[in-house]
Amino acid sequence: MEREIGMLEEQYIDYNFSSEEFESKYTYLGKDLGATWSVEATTFRIWAPVAEQCHVIGYKEGEVSSKEVLFKVGMKRGEKGTWSITILGNLEGVYYTYQVVVNGESVEACDPYAKAVGINGKRAMVLNMERCNPPGWEKDCNPNKELTSTDAVIYEMHIRDFSSDQHSGIQNKGTFVGVTEVGTVNSYGQSTGLDYLKDLGITHVHLLPVYDYGSIDESVRNETYNWGYDPVNYNVPEGSYSTNAWDGEVRVREMKEMVQTLHNNGISVVMDVVYNHVYDAQTFCMNQIVPGYFSRRDEEGRYSNGSYCGNDTASERSMVHQYIVQSILYWMEEYHMDGFRFDLVGLLDIKVMNAIVEQVHRVRPDVIFYGEGWDMPTGMTKDHYKLAIQMNAQLTPGLAYFNDSMRDLLKGSYSKETERGYINGAKGKVEALKANIMGLPYWSPAPAQTVQYVSCHDDFGIFDRLKVACPGETLETLAAYNRLAAAVVFLSQGIPFVHAGEEFLRSKQDKDGNLISNSYMEPDEVNSIKWNELHDPVHAGVREYYKGLIAFRKAHPAFRLRTASEVREAIRFLGDTSGESIAYRIEAKDIQGEEASQILVIFNPETSPISLSLPEGEWKIYIRENQAGIRILGTANGRVAIPEISTMVLVK
Ligand code: CA
Repeated sequence: MEREIGMLEEQYIDYNFSSEEFESKYTYLGKDLGATWSVEATTFRIWAPVAEQCHVIGYKEGEVSSKEVLFKVGMKRGEKGTWSITILGNLEGVYYTYQVVVNGESVEACDPYAKAVGINGKRAMVLNMERCNPPGWEKDCNPNKELTSTDAVIYEMHIRDFSSDQHSGIQNKGTFVGVTEVGTVNSYGQSTGLDYLKDLGITHVHLLPVYDYGSIDESVRNETYNWGYDPVNYNVPEGSYSTNAWDGEVRVREMKEMVQTLHNNGISVVMDVVYNHVYDAQTFCMNQIVPGYFSRRDEEGRYSNGSYCGNDTASERSMVHQYIVQSILYWMEEYHMDGFRFDLVGLLDIKVMNAIVEQVHRVRPDVIFYGEGWDMPTGMTKDHYKLAIQMNAQLTPGLAYFNDSMRDLLKGSYSKETERGYINGAKGKVEALKANIMGLPYWSPAPAQTVQYVSCHDDFGIFDRLKVACPGETLETLAAYNRLAAAVVFLSQGIPFVHAGEEFLRSKQDKDGNLISNSYMEPDEVNSIKWNELHDPVHAGVREYYKGLIAFRKAHPAFRLRTASEVREAIRFLGDTSGESIAYRIEAKDIQGEEASQILVIFNPETSPISLSLPEGEWKIYIRENQAGIRILGTANGRVAIPEISTMVLVK
């Protein structure tokens, strides 16, 4: 594929940022970039190696329209391309920017290392971080820290979608605070929000971007919608999710309160991070201070565009590497994040990813990492650098990747919306599916590196996809397809992942009833989780099934093996199955230290029942037709019948 070329800047100067010479002269390893506050004084340090002059400007307000300047002070050139200045007095709550002269031109930019910002992220803010900590914050920790990645059940959710529906029963719609509300119910009195999540049994909430992004005007909150894959300030929470985006402190405090509340309810928090590109390469603060440094460009100054978002991050450059690693450490230490999902991680190099995993795990081995390891064409600026793509998975053992093989085998190719997959009648998928059930698609060396899913925020959700691919089929049949997909995901080795609401047949429709794919800037009416649908018996039935699958998986460590050798030893596929059905036996230590039990899993995607001879003995049935859980549904021996489009699981 030919490389996509982004915008050409008019006056391009090649500083040779990726050369050894530049890096040895200007790599600053200190941890004090940004504003370091104390009651007595604040020190500002900026990395601006090609600047001719730097000033820090203090403002009373965070809005760009407010011109009241408190101070403007020249900064002194320091080591490794940094400039710094200490200003005496308590600057808590003061907003600031850097004015930098590069090539004779003066620019004013936000601090790339800002920890708080004013409205729309144009000015940084000096913050007393401790004042933003909720009571008990020092005791807050990951409630699932004993779990490893394959024990996780991940629930991918957008802050707005979770509460914006008129029937959510949640007061603070579309905000961090909305996630913390308890006792909320839909119009039928059924639990919604946090109570609902807790009951479902998931272990990790994965939040779509919650750092400060650029596509929403924070001053007119909730007028426009976006998923938020357009980073502006990497180390600051998004303002439109706070109850007051004007005061830089509020978003920090409310995001911490959200994390603490989720933790107190047994739920770990994963953050979606988008280091692979920025909202706008020209105006991104680091690119203004050090012209174009953060982004990959060719010899003529054209931005590389493997991300299809206008620019790709030059993670291979020493100070971008430092920046990304420090940013992750910051979210982990300051906000107690328990995991990170890397958007288009295939554009970042494996050195930065391994540095992240190593440095985080040195402090917190319980933090999980996964990302989109798609192979995209990008203009790497150094030789011999490898990218964090699926095919390099063995080089990034601490990083898991989304398994699109499983996804596409189950529902059909993501790019062919009417194509069917294994769950809805496509033939010839059995052999390929077996490797995926083992958590070992062709690129993955271990189930701990394989994220298993059938849908996520991208493209159609699974229910809408089924409607598009199977016109005229009944709701009951579509629900059966969906149950089968969920059963394969949860009964496979790997890390199971659910798109919020898929468990009760979430649909994204506009007001004319059109199904919407890639709804990244559609209104809340399209994107919100429709909580009243829990009242529909078919929708509610699918939810009960997901809940049962989660409980069953949690009760059996045999589904949560970590290595390829453990899986190969534990799983045996049965040969005498009919049609497209798949049957396998797992024999592994089921409860730590206790006797191994045997589990038999049978998937029947056929439109008629099949029968199968059970291995010797009496088997207890836990999953059958539309029921799943940790309660025995019946017993069987000899031959057993598996109804059409369903899963059966038996334990001996
Ligand atoms: Ca923002």
